[in-house]
Amino acid sequence: MNGPLLKVESLVKHYPLGTGFSRRDVPVIRAVQDVSFSVEAGETLCIVGESGCGKSTVARLLMRLMDPTGGRVLLEGVDIARLKKPELRNTRRRMQMVFQDPYSSLNPRLSAGRIITEPVENFERLSRKQREALAAELLRQVGLAPEIMHRLPSELSGGQRQRVGIARALSLKPAIIIADEAVSALDVSVQAQILNLLMDLQQDLGIAFVFISHDLGVVEHIGHKVAVMYLGRIVELARCEDLFANPAHPYTEALIAAAPVPDPTHRALEARLEGEVPSPVNPPTGCAFHPRCPLAIERCRVEVPILNPMVDRRVVACHVRAPTICENSDVVSEALILNQ
Ligand code: ADP
Repeated sequence: MNGPLLKVESLVKHYPLGTGFSRRDVPVIRAVQDVSFSVEAGETLCIVGESGCGKSTVARLLMRLMDPTGGRVLLEGVDIARLKKPELRNTRRRMQMVFQDPYSSLNPRLSAGRIITEPVENFERLSRKQREALAAELLRQVGLAPEIMHRLPSELSGGQRQRVGIARALSLKPAIIIADEAVSALDVSVQAQILNLLMDLQQDLGIAFVFISHDLGVVEHIGHKVAVMYLGRIVELARCEDLFANPAHPYTEALIAAAPVPDPTHRALEARLEGEVPSPVNPPTGCAFHPRCPLAIERCRVEVPILNPMVDRRVVACHVRAPTICENSDVVSEALILNQ
């Protein structure tokens, strides 16, 4: 395969809001606007941003749980938005999802063993012996004892349930797992165990992750690359260590400054996030962050900033911190986003 494992190109999702006289009159929620990124095999891309920024919508588009308004999602070079059902079923084997709330995403009437082996049984018949052997092996991979296979979700702890959810995602040997707020509902100590499990699985099995989280501490722990989203757009995309050591976009800076971190000494600007994320139905003109931005200039009120490359290979959409530096910068930034 040439190119990255997952390549997202100019993804757009508008949700219609109510009804109008004609389709053109219907107001829309611009949940995802022109989002592009790529993920290599064995890599973790984190998507961060406040609630309502479009993170979960991106996750659902990646899994083709709904159709995009525009753009492409290429998994191993195949555009999943164009696949018909039978092909989509096979492609889905390569991309699995882990959800935030393991309790509501696990069927309460099935034993853990059944839950874990169900995806495989959708493709092939398994004897009871085969099923139990598979369940035991998957439980071992996620650090659980084989006896757990006989328990119902209600008989498991939160951490065990999330491990069962991960075992189910592993059952089809995916190349990539989309994890949407996968540890947010867990206690802090259990969160760390699950994050370490995911990192061990990545090392042993070479699985890539798109890891969606509003928690910067979690992202700093697990990410290789980080995409910061604001009101449906990526505003900064960088290597994880660069982003945390030296945030470039004022929104990234404010998010990091607002996060409870043990060592705030390297925070350059004590930016605070004031106000709320504006409505995606009627977003601010120009840069959507400008009403909350301490650095905003007149240009920010009128012109939407594009993602521009900076010297350390990150891309940033900010007229102040990353003003357009060359004629064909959109081409350059695309090359950077897509790792070409
Ligand atoms: P996040 O995951 O960052 O919290 P979401 O992707 O859930 O953001 O939501 C982005 C925007 O799209 C929000 O304004 C949300 O209210 C809206 N939205 C999400 N899902 C739907 C839907 N099914 N129908 C209409 N609006 C939606």
